[in-house]
This record gives sequence, structure tokens and C-alpha cells, in this order.
Amino acid sequence: MNAQNTEEQLQAEIKKLQLQLEEAHGTIEAMEEAKVEAVKLNDILEDAVAARAKDLSVSQEHFMLLANNIPQITWTNLSSGRFNFFNQRWYDYTGLSFDATFEESWDNIIHPDDLPATREKFNHCMKTGEIFEIENRYKRNDGIYRWHLNRSIPLRNENHELLFWVGTATDIDDQRKSIEKKDEFIGIASHELKTPLTSLKAYLQLISNYKKEVVPGQVKTFIVKAESSICKLQNLVNDLLDVSKIQAGKLDFVQSPLSIKELIATCAEHAGYMFPDYNIIFNPGADVKINGNTERLEQVLMNLINNAVKYSPLHKDIILSFTKEGNQVRISVTDYGIGLSTSQLDKIFERFYRVDVKNRIASGLGMGLYISMEIIKNHKGTIGVQSRINKGSTFYILLPLLS
Ligand code: ADP
Repeated sequence: MNAQNTEEQLQAEIKKLQLQLEEAHGTIEAMEEAKVEAVKLNDILEDAVAARAKDLSVSQEHFMLLANNIPQITWTNLSSGRFNFFNQRWYDYTGLSFDATFEESWDNIIHPDDLPATREKFNHCMKTGEIFEIENRYKRNDGIYRWHLNRSIPLRNENHELLFWVGTATDIDDQRKSIEKKDEFIGIASHELKTPLTSLKAYLQLISNYKKEVVPGQVKTFIVKAESSICKLQNLVNDLLDVSKIQAGKLDFVQSPLSIKELIATCAEHAGYMFPDYNIIFNPGADVKINGNTERLEQVLMNLINNAVKYSPLHKDIILSFTKEGNQVRISVTDYGIGLSTSQLDKIFERFYRVDVKNRIASGLGMGLYISMEIIKNHKGTIGVQSRINKGSTFYILLPLLS
């Protein structure tokens, strides 16, 4: 290699290094600029995070204020059933601390009489995801139990997966007490009414059987009318008594084997006398037997027939029937009257429920179906209805067959 070549090479090398140095300067400058930008960005981000955190703490504060001050106890629990939040109202009401709340067994908070039903309903809802709703008594910090209406709904995400449950307990003790007072009053009043009514009926029977002197025909007609009015009054008083017995959990009756064919035939015969304008149709098939109380089941069937007549003023056919369905019997009472809408169907078995006042075509107090349902429940059966507005209704009863 000669000396000239070496110098040229060195010059080229130096130039290359100078270029690299310049590039490096450029990079360093860019980096410094970027650093300044990054610092600025960081400041902006920090400000944003601080603002967001402030917003969050304000909304959390807002949420806690709301949760703690709504006039109800609220809670949340996980899908496993484990509770993870109670609002301040809970701690104030029960007098329990946070730790005690989560350690305390339900047995020490819920009234012993309400505990089994509460547990059963809660476990059922946790399993099925159905809305939890029950009335029960919670022990207050002074040891007194007060009635609460509990409602809890499952919250789900967009994939319909259950996130957690949100529940509330509303104090309904005052309402419950006034309902209990009213029930007690109805019980006493109907009992007091029953005695004079029974003797009135007995005196009227004595008068109608009076043979010593000739009773004028018009007086006889008045006696028949008075007897019919007294029967209606007696039915009303008996219904009121039944309602108060149901409320007190005392609607007891003995049960023994009975024939369904005979039961319905007896009611069809009564109905034939009572409603001579109507065609009471009953074409029985092979008989079946159940365990039940004849008097109470007659009461249910007569109530259904009575309703079929009341709510079917134009079409006079009423069909009674029964069929065996597995280990049950289905008894049906069909009319072709005014029928019921879907929204009414859900309510007609409630106590004192009557369909819209404007459309009332018959008198009544809305007790018959409620009493019927309780009697059927006591027979371990079910009662229901299929109906269409202006087409008619079929009320049915399912009862377990005698095994
Ligand atoms: P009541 O007939 O004394 O009002 P019920 O408890 O027997 O009380 O019936 C409740 C309500 O259900 C009635 O007010 C009526 O509106 C409705 N209902 C009952 N049976 C029938 C029927 N066969 N057709 C149409 N509506 C009916």
C-alpha cells in the first residue's frame, strides 16, 4: 500500500466519522426534544389521571352517600351467595359491626319462624337466577323484630353472565301491623255477625213451618225472600270468617277418601236448582277417588259454578267435567261468558281482587277464588284458569289421586 492511498483512506474515514458524529448530534437533539415532549406529555397525563381520580372519588363519595342514605337497607352479594356489601342503614338497624355482619349467622338476625322460608327462597334464587322476594323479620339493635320486604335482582353483563346481586330490604312493619289489625277486626266482626244470623235463620224456619193458623200467601212469599237474603248474608259472613282463618293459618279440615263423580254430581244437582235458567252439563266417565274434605271441595266447586253463572249473563251453558291425568284428576268448570284478559288472570286468586270496577257485571267481594285456592292448596292440589276475553273461561283444579 502506498502513502497516498493511506492518506485518502484516512480522509474518507474521518469524513465518515464526521458524518456519523453529525448524525449522532442530530439524534441527541431529537432525543432532547422528545424528552421535553415526553415530560410535557407526562405532565398532561398526570393532570388527567389526577382529574380522573378526583372524578372517581367524587362519584364514589356520591355513590356511598346515595347507598348509605336511601331509606332502605341495601346489599350486594356474589353469585355464590356470599355477601360483600351492606349500606350504613344495615349497620345502624342491626347494631352489628362490619366484621360481625359477615361472621354472624342468619339465625341470629332473622326471626326463627321466617328463617326456613328465607333460606329456601334465597338458595333457590341463587341457583335459578330468579328475582328474590320475600317478607321476613330482622332483629333490630334493641332486640325487637320488624317486618321487611326483601327484593334482590341479579345484575348481568352484556353476555348475560351474572355479575352480582343487588338487594334492598324495606321496613313494612307498620303496614303489616295495620293489615293484621284489619284481619283481626274482620275475624271478630264476622264471628259476631254469625250468631244473630243463625238465630234469625232459625226463627224464619219456625215461621215458615208454622201450621197453627193459616199464613197468607203474600206473607209466605216474604218469608221465602227473607230466607234467601239471609242465605246470601250467611255465605258472605262465612267467606269473611274463612278469609280470617286463612290469614291466621287456621283453615284446618279433616280429609277422607271420596268419589269425584259423586262430588261433582252433587254440585251439578245443587246448581240445577239454584240456577234454573242455566244448562249445567255433566257427563261423567269412570269414577276416580281422592283424599279430601267433601264440604270444602263442594264449596270450591259451587264457587266456580256460581262465578261461571255470574260472569256469563248471555250464554247459559256451563260444563262440568273431570279426567284422570297420570296420578292426578283434573276437574274443570267451563263457561262461555265475559272471560278474562291475560293481566287479569294473574290477579284473580289474590285476596279481595275484583276485575276493574267499570266492567263489573255482578256483585261480590273478591274472596271466593282466594278461599278456593287455599282449600285446594291444603289438598296438595293446584287451581288455575284458561280464559279469553268475550270467549269464556275454564277454571280447573288438579288434585292427587288416592294411591
Ligand atoms: P267475586 O266473584 O266475589 O268478586 P272471586 O274471588 O270469586 O270474587 O272472583 C274474583 C274475580 O275474578 C271476580 O271479581 C271476576 O272479575 C273474576 N272472575 C271469576 N270467575 C270468573 C269467570 N268465570 N269469568 C270471568 N271472570 C271471572
